[in-house]
Amino acid sequence: MQPTAQAVGTVVGRRQPEGRKKKTLCCCVAYKRWKETPMKKTIIALILSLTTVPVWSQARPYPGPDLPQLYQHYLDVVNNIPAFDHHAHPGFADDPDVDAMAAPPGSAAFRERDTNPELVAAAKALWGYPYTDFLPEHAKWLVQKKAEIKKQYPGTAYFNMLLDKMNFDRGVANRAMMADYLDPKRFPWVFFADSFMWPFDNTKERSRNVDQQVYMPLQEKMLKRWMQQEKISALPASIGDYLKFVSQVLDDNQKNKGAIAMKFEVAYFRPLHFNDPTREEAEAIYNKYAKGGVPVETEYRTFQDYIFRYLITEGGRLKLPVHIHSAVGIGDYFNISESNIMKMENVLRDPRYSNTTFVMIHGGYPLEREAIWLAAIKNVYMDSSLQEIFMYPAAFKNSLRQWLETFPDKITFGTDCFPYNDVLGAEESYWLGNVSARQSLAAAIAEMVSSGEITDAKAIEMAHAYLHDTALSLYPSLSH
Ligand SMILES: [Zn+2]
Repeated sequence: MQPTAQAVGTVVGRRQPEGRKKKTLCCCVAYKRWKETPMKKTIIALILSLTTVPVWSQARPYPGPDLPQLYQHYLDVVNNIPAFDHHAHPGFADDPDVDAMAAPPGSAAFRERDTNPELVAAAKALWGYPYTDFLPEHAKWLVQKKAEIKKQYPGTAYFNMLLDKMNFDRGVANRAMMADYLDPKRFPWVFFADSFMWPFDNTKERSRNVDQQVYMPLQEKMLKRWMQQEKISALPASIGDYLKFVSQVLDDNQKNKGAIAMKFEVAYFRPLHFNDPTREEAEAIYNKYAKGGVPVETEYRTFQDYIFRYLITEGGRLKLPVHIHSAVGIGDYFNISESNIMKMENVLRDPRYSNTTFVMIHGGYPLEREAIWLAAIKNVYMDSSLQEIFMYPAAFKNSLRQWLETFPDKITFGTDCFPYNDVLGAEESYWLGNVSARQSLAAAIAEMVSSGEITDAKAIEMAHAYLHDTALSLYPSLSH
């Protein structure tokens, strides 16, 4: 049956049929910090009351003429929600612990390049940057300005001030190690767990390409730091003791260092599909190479498959969620076909790991439309960080809308901020991710309300869930 104008009548000016009662919605949250004139308030209130979805309504394929007003309204609502940044790398450009790997050379996507004029907008919004480009003589102004402000905000105050500017109550610090200039109350730590998979002689791994030549020594360095932390000087003699050491690091990081999750960026180092070897197979390989010798690739992968599965099992036991890079990667040697998110479906759907919480960092981009269906699994969540940077808001709002229309209670916000260099730091990166994501979210829910898909109350609930509440619910230790 074709919907009649009355049956779908939720846009301004449409008549409500007699005897049908519309659900009246409370918009008090939305109006709390509304700064417009009383007349504008009345107009928006009228639009919202008429845009309310009646219980019997049917969604329409096109939004109504109220869309621009609804967008402005929801942008105000969304900007006033304190966010939880679920994935980011805060730190200064000269801090080597911002990541456990290094950015390889290679082509950056168009919007990621430092020629992006939006970065000028970021510098203007954050620091009152007076120029319209980053010519070296102009960039100097920005470096000096930030140095002055750092003096005004010593210790942990500088990055706390940045979170306040973004309206984030907390922002995850996914870093090799924590920095003393990040306040642990505002920056929960997510550490890297990849290095446990590379304990042997990595000569052959390094020789695969120039990216691995950089990555492998950094993984070896990370493993040595974990060994120092647990006061061991050489690889344990047996695989049993090696696994004990791995568990000790996880436990120590969680209990004594405040870590809330472990992170894998393993897709940069090997394919994302993990087979299911036995302990005996892994043990034989450990016994063969723990004291030296270069494993052949198939042996190394088998050992890694076992260790990865051990780590995610431990994540379930310790209630330590597992974050996994699941998007395309940077550099010329990142293998997209071997590292796409669907390669992990066998692990994510394996009931042995149903106690482990998985957060798929970057939501499988550019397969995010497929990837959202993995969030049907009760312990699998999607993080949208990086998507809002690779895509402009015009495109990201469509991806986000599809997510909101599918599993709105399983998606979380993140910026993936990173200090690119002295001029363009984590500050500007935070700004671009934050502004883009909030604009896209406001646009997505405005379209959904205007098209009669959801009510105003549901739109606001979805915005809070995506920006803050869903991510926070994964970490009970942060609630008290
Ligand atoms: Zn990241």
